[in-house]
Amino acid sequence: MYTLKSVRVDWYYSLHPASMTYIIKERKYMSHGFTKINEMEIREMGSIAHVYRHDKTGARVLSIVNDDENKVFGISFRTPPEDSTGVAHILEHSVLCGSEKYPIKEPFVELLKGSLQTFLNALTFPDKTCYPVASANAQDFYNLIDVYLDAVFYPRLTENTLKQEGWHFEMDGPDKPMTYKGVVYNEMKGAYSSPESMLYDYSQQSIFPDNTYGIDSGGDPAIIPDLTFDQFMAFHRDHYHPSNGYAYFYGDDDPEKRLELLDAVFSKFDKIDVSKTRVPLQERFTEARTVRESYPASQRLDKGMFTVNWLLAETCDPNLNLALHILEHILIGLPSSPLKKAPMDSGLGADLAGVGLEADMRQMFFSIGLNGMHPSNAIKAESIIFHTIKELIEKGIDARDIEAAINSTEFSLRENNTGS
Ligand SMILES: [Zn+2]
Repeated sequence: MYTLKSVRVDWYYSLHPASMTYIIKERKYMSHGFTKINEMEIREMGSIAHVYRHDKTGARVLSIVNDDENKVFGISFRTPPEDSTGVAHILEHSVLCGSEKYPIKEPFVELLKGSLQTFLNALTFPDKTCYPVASANAQDFYNLIDVYLDAVFYPRLTENTLKQEGWHFEMDGPDKPMTYKGVVYNEMKGAYSSPESMLYDYSQQSIFPDNTYGIDSGGDPAIIPDLTFDQFMAFHRDHYHPSNGYAYFYGDDDPEKRLELLDAVFSKFDKIDVSKTRVPLQERFTEARTVRESYPASQRLDKGMFTVNWLLAETCDPNLNLALHILEHILIGLPSSPLKKAPMDSGLGADLAGVGLEADMRQMFFSIGLNGMHPSNAIKAESIIFHTIKELIEKGIDARDIEAAINSTEFSLRENNTGS
C-alpha cells in the first residue's frame, strides 16, 4: 500500500478528524490495491512521475501527472516470441477484432471514426506489444481505456480470428493451386519483398543469434503457417496478463481514478510467473563474424547491400543512451558527418545503408553500410568504415562538432515534437 500525501487526504481529515478507523479503511481503499514504488519530479516536463506495483498481480504502472490536457494511456506486455511464426504480431491484430464487452467486428475502426482520439494504435516490437491511445476529452479518454483494456484482456479469439488475421488456405477455383492468405501473412510477404526491410532484419538478427532478437517477431511467411490455434491461445494466456503488463498514464486526468479503474480489471486475475518473458542479454562475440544472405533480385551485380553492426550497451542506462544518440548525430547526422561522407565519397555504393543507432531493444546496436553496390566491394567498404573510425579515435572529434550535436539533440528534446 502506498502512503497518501495527496490533498484529498487532508480534505478528508478536516471532515472526519476523529474517525481514525474509518480513515485507515479509506486509505486502503484509496490505494486501489497498488503500492507506490517510486516518485520523481521531472522538471523539464513539469510533471511528477509515480511508479506503482499492483499488489495482487504484480502489474506495474507509470503514472505521470501534469496539467497537459492531452491525456495518454497505454498498456504494454513483454511478448518475446520463441520462433518466427509471427504469433505476437498476429495476436496484436487479433485482439482488435472485438472483445467480450465490445463484440463488434472492428471496434478500433469504429473508434477511429467516432472518437475524439488524437492517437490510437497498436505496435508489435521484437520483444513487446504496446497499445497506446490519447485524447484531450476526459469522457472520451475513459471510454477509450475501457475499450483497450477489454480488447487486450478479453478478446474474442476464435479459430476464425487466427485464420483471418494469421493464415489460411485459399483457392481461386477448383483447378487452381492452393495458396496461403491472411492479413499478417500478406503483410509479411510484402515486408519480405522489400530488400531494405530484409537487410534491417538480417542486420539485427546477425548480432543477436542467441536471444529473441535473432528471430523475426513480425513473422516469416515460410514459418507463419506452422502456428497452431493452441499455440496462439497459449501465447495470449501467458503474455496478456497483468503480471506481465506495464500500464502508462500521462496528463491532467485524476491520478486516483487511474489506479481505481486499473485495479477493477487487474484484480480479476491471480499472479502468474512471468520470468520467462524477460529477454536475456546477448553475449559479446570474441571476434567479428560475417554473415551472407541472399534476396531475390535481377541479374545486375550492383544490387548488393552491406552493413557493419556493433552490439552496444544496455538501453536502460539513460546517460550512456543519450551519449550514444549524440555520438550517432556526430557520426552520421549530417552529410558532412565522417561515417556518412567517407563511405559515400568512396563511390563503392549508391546510398548509405543501416539504421544507425537502434535503441528500442534491451541492448542497443549500431548499423552502418552501403547499398547499391557490387557484393565483392563489401571488404573495401568495411575497411573504409574502420579506417574512418580509427582516424576519429586517433585525432579525436572536433569540439565544435560535439557542441553542435549536443545543441541539436537538446533542441529536439525541448521541442518535444515526436510527430505522434
Ligand atoms: Zn501488422
